[in-house]
Amino acid sequence: MAFFSANVVLILLVLGFCTSLLISWMAYRAAVQRPVARWLVPMMLGAAIWSIADILIITLPGFEQKSTALPFVYVGVALILWSLPLFAVEYIGLRRYATGRWILLLAIEPILLLLFTLTNPIHQLFWLQTDLVQVGDISQLSNTYGPLFWFHTAYAYVVLLVSTAFLSRALLRAHQRQRTLSGLVVLGVLMPWIGNALFLSRLIPVDLTSLAFAITGFSLSLGIVRYSLFDVTPIARDTVIEVMNDAVLILDNDFRLVDLNKASWRIFTPPQNPFGLELHQLSPELAALTDPTALDRTLNRSIQFGSNHYEIRFSPLRYANRWQVGWMILLHDVTLARQTQAELKNERDFALQIMNNMGQGLTVTDKDNKFIYVNPAYGQITGYRPEELLGKSPLELTYEADLNILIEARKKRQQGEGSTYENRFIRADGSVAYGLITGVPRLKNGEFDGSIAVVTDLTDQKRIEGELRQARDEAMQASEMKSIFLATMSHELRTPLTAIMGYAELQLAGVAGPMNQEQREFTDRILVNSRHLLTIINQVLDVSKIEAGRLELTSVTFQPCSLVDEVLRQTASLVGDKAIELRGECIGLPEQLMGDPDRLKQILLNLVSNAIKFTEQGQISIHLSSTGQKDWLMRVQDTGIGIPATALPTIFEEFRQVDAAITRQHEGTGLGLAIVQKLARLMGGDVQVTSEENVGSTFTIRLPLVTP
Ligand code: ADP
Repeated sequence: MAFFSANVVLILLVLGFCTSLLISWMAYRAAVQRPVARWLVPMMLGAAIWSIADILIITLPGFEQKSTALPFVYVGVALILWSLPLFAVEYIGLRRYATGRWILLLAIEPILLLLFTLTNPIHQLFWLQTDLVQVGDISQLSNTYGPLFWFHTAYAYVVLLVSTAFLSRALLRAHQRQRTLSGLVVLGVLMPWIGNALFLSRLIPVDLTSLAFAITGFSLSLGIVRYSLFDVTPIARDTVIEVMNDAVLILDNDFRLVDLNKASWRIFTPPQNPFGLELHQLSPELAALTDPTALDRTLNRSIQFGSNHYEIRFSPLRYANRWQVGWMILLHDVTLARQTQAELKNERDFALQIMNNMGQGLTVTDKDNKFIYVNPAYGQITGYRPEELLGKSPLELTYEADLNILIEARKKRQQGEGSTYENRFIRADGSVAYGLITGVPRLKNGEFDGSIAVVTDLTDQKRIEGELRQARDEAMQASEMKSIFLATMSHELRTPLTAIMGYAELQLAGVAGPMNQEQREFTDRILVNSRHLLTIINQVLDVSKIEAGRLELTSVTFQPCSLVDEVLRQTASLVGDKAIELRGECIGLPEQLMGDPDRLKQILLNLVSNAIKFTEQGQISIHLSSTGQKDWLMRVQDTGIGIPATALPTIFEEFRQVDAAITRQHEGTGLGLAIVQKLARLMGGDVQVTSEENVGSTFTIRLPLVTP
């Protein structure tokens, strides 16, 4: 026991005191970067106070003096008991638990301890008795402990046990690769156990627990500093690095594997214990990418393992930002990103293909109204190559007189509205082209960022329209000329014809003296043919008058039923010796109607004379009736040759005849039905025909019923 002389013990305690103070100060400074270190400050201060109290107890003379130092032992112990578990909680990564609640909770027992020890003279439940004992040349205080001491000791051991267990486990797990070193740190953490056990088992004569805590503090600070390589606490490492999808490999300076996370195991197939493997043993491909000349730089590479693509980052790991202690390799899986990229590219290509091949022009402009894209079709419309147009403004191409249209449309788009408008522009060769433009705004984050426009080339259409308009104008002019010509001509023809007929009638009446039979026949012929000619001329005149809009209808009161009688009377002679029964009826019509009786009679005469002309035998009837609504009908029905179905649609056109041959049987001009239709329409009605070949035809005029 000579080894434990007072001097040796004192030296050890002074050493412990100094170490504790030093570590406390260092921890205080380190706490700025690693907050967990702050719990070492009270812990080491506790160890220091404990040491100094031990020193005082040994060095102070006499029982009384020594006794005054005794409570300080427990001030130190209280500080350690409070801060050690807090340190452990935070170090193993349950940092969020080192909250105010825990800080207070863990302070309860240490405060009670202080109260118990300070009030011991009153209750003597902590120490029953304190004696002075001599061990070698050391005079020590020896206590006989009371129940409160044992309660406190039990608590202290639980705290110590739990804290050291957690710390040891965390240290061993976090630093599997350097077992010896972590073993030493763990040993340091266990020192108080060893010290206390040695003392309680009386293997050493003095309690060097304060010294043991100094060693613990030293170990822990070593653990923190030395392993600053992993600036993440073990749990954080588990939850972040282990579960991350990116593979992380940690290598030492010789490219030997120090650590690798779960994701790495999925990419590589390392042996059971891969630590210490050289990188090229693990993955020759990866090793091939490392650049020995770039040892102190971060390198970015990419590589493919199986069907997956990775972006690789080699970063040097430095201690205290200075000395390189190894490498970190991060493999970021970019397979999905690449796939998305490829898909986006496909979509873009697809859209481009459509844009480049569409027949219409497509332009995209930016905020400043400059082309950023024009498709080939737009180039064709304007006569420029698409790349010539990029950077130009649509305004530069626009026909000056149309600039306003363009500016207005753009204003609309700036307010978020699309529009469609016609617009002329100047082509590269100086010619004018017409475009139909539909423009919509392009938005970026809801803000106007330019326009998209689809341009349809209207140039050809405009040209054709112009030509058509001109042709129509010319045709209308020609038609008008024709009508005027016909009207004049018929008028001019009618005057001499009336004179011819007048003289022929005079001659027949014997005004110029008696005529023989032959002369009478000839003059008769003259008269018949002249009348026929007059009919034709009158018809031509009517048609041209109607076409020129110069025929005016009268509106007078007339008796519709008397029309039937008049027409029957006037056409009776036309029947000649044909076996035709001609009859008329008038049913359900008012006595009087308003209208143009002459033109109505003209319609009926035309229809009835046609019916007689195209009927050899049977019946021809005129039938006037009311529809019972707002109209009335004039119907002429025959049992004649009928009209072929193919001819029906055109029968009312001018000069149309079913049998138009020169050698035809029936004479006529082909104007009668045209006049009938025009008159009926002029009166606000219309004409319809139904017919069957060799059965007969029915013409029906429907007219509005107007009563006086
Ligand atoms: P046209 O002076 O030749 O009679 P219309 O315009 O009156 O001229 O008639 C045109 C043609 O319609 C006639 O040539 C004839 O072929 C046909 N048509 C008109 N009415 C009848 C009818 N009642 N029966 C058969 N064919 C008819």
